[in-house]
Amino acid sequence: MKGVGPYTAGAILSIAYGKPEPAVDGNVMRVLSRILMIYEDIAKPKTRKTFEAAVRKLIDHEHTSAFNQALMELGALICTPGKPACLLCPVQSHCLAFEAGVQSELPVKIQKKKRGMYQL
Ligand code: SF4
Repeated sequence: MKGVGPYTAGAILSIAYGKPEPAVDGNVMRVLSRILMIYEDIAKPKTRKTFEAAVRKLIDHEHTSAFNQALMELGALICTPGKPACLLCPVQSHCLAFEAGVQSELPVKIQKKKRGMYQL
């Protein structure tokens, strides 16, 4: 789709047209980084491709809208950045980070160092 980013395109295609396309935003990257224990830096633009590929493998072709919206909701309400509510999580039994006890390590997001105008 011209003029729209990959997230919006994926959301429209999966929700409005039932296409098995990923709609990967920050919430989805956080959730999947934990469920699949993906330690790639989500601050890097190319990392989105890893998560898009993961969604393409996992997405329910019969329920593309529900699948993508459920991932977004899980990230917004349960698998939150600070303290994920793992004990309430409906996918806890599938979550590799929960099993390993490393939820707080994920997602990896390495901040760029700010450069001053003048370097000595
Ligand atoms: S078990 Fe915890 S870390 Fe894993 S997806 Fe659920 S809320 Fe997120």
